[in-house]
Amino acid sequence: MNGDDWVGVDAAGKPWVCASGLRQSPINVPPTHALEHRGSTIPLKHQTTWSYPAIVSNGSNVEVINNGHAIQVEWLSPYAADVEIAVPAQYGNKTTITAVLGMGDNDPVSTVRATPLQFHFHSNSEHLVVGKYYPLEMHIVHKITDLPACAAAGGCFSVTGVLFELADGGDNPLLKAIWAAMPMREGAINYLPAGAEIHLEDLLPPANARDYVTYEGSLTTPPCTEGLLWHVMLKAQKISHAQWNKYKKAVALKDCEAAAVANETVPSAASPSPSATVHHRHHHRRLLEEEAPVNPNDYTCKVVAYGANYRSSQKLYGRAVKIGRAP
Ligand SMILES: [Zn+2]
Repeated sequence: MNGDDWVGVDAAGKPWVCASGLRQSPINVPPTHALEHRGSTIPLKHQTTWSYPAIVSNGSNVEVINNGHAIQVEWLSPYAADVEIAVPAQYGNKTTITAVLGMGDNDPVSTVRATPLQFHFHSNSEHLVVGKYYPLEMHIVHKITDLPACAAAGGCFSVTGVLFELADGGDNPLLKAIWAAMPMREGAINYLPAGAEIHLEDLLPPANARDYVTYEGSLTTPPCTEGLLWHVMLKAQKISHAQWNKYKKAVALKDCEAAAVANETVPSAASPSPSATVHHRHHHRRLLEEEAPVNPNDYTCKVVAYGANYRSSQKLYGRAVKIGRAP
């Protein structure tokens, strides 16, 4: 689950960079006081801003997918969220989406729009904060096409990570609809029922507490492509014990030994599917086509990510980690 042994090639025949890359994700986030002491604070005008309208289901436009590696939510209609990432005012053909990490405090700024494509969860968290794991981490995957370099590459990606901590109280109401629709069977898809709403904005810390760290990293599944701008929210959200347990049962910690009798498939430890990339789109279309007429909520043990659905922390190799302090 570390990636040292993730070797392969992508669809275009390019080798994965999981084992060889020097800008891999996730990371162990350093203490914020150390970052601030180092002068790594991003000025307000260079900070990323997030604004997400509610995603409203009509019964057939929002999918909750168990792709075997994660529970992922996708929508089939355009989603007009307003996420703005700072880039230099005078950007050129080679300006990357990670340019904000190298901008000086007084550099004039422009912004580009990041469009959310999907979000999914990992358990345990992939990012650590000062050596500490959280039970759950949500990743909102955004695509950027505004920059010439991104348009040429078919889009650049920026992921926003939100950590969840266990609460003794009841379920997190913002996750309820997704959790209720969560397919327990690997490869299965459920539609969010008509009228159900997802309030992504509220799943982030409130705007006045939206401290985050940002750095250049990678996809956390093969091909582990680098050049992504990562944001990790520092204030954790809440999840109940029951919600955590259900998530683990669906993808992370499967009781495969007990189910082995009823299952012919041998679980392969720590060998994520090459198709478990950021989109999962082809994977999921294929699954739809091959879908046997069985109950998506049946619990099975045909496992892709047996034992874990998170990648271990990767070395920083001197990368800049910057902190954005909420106003
Ligand atoms: Zn992820």
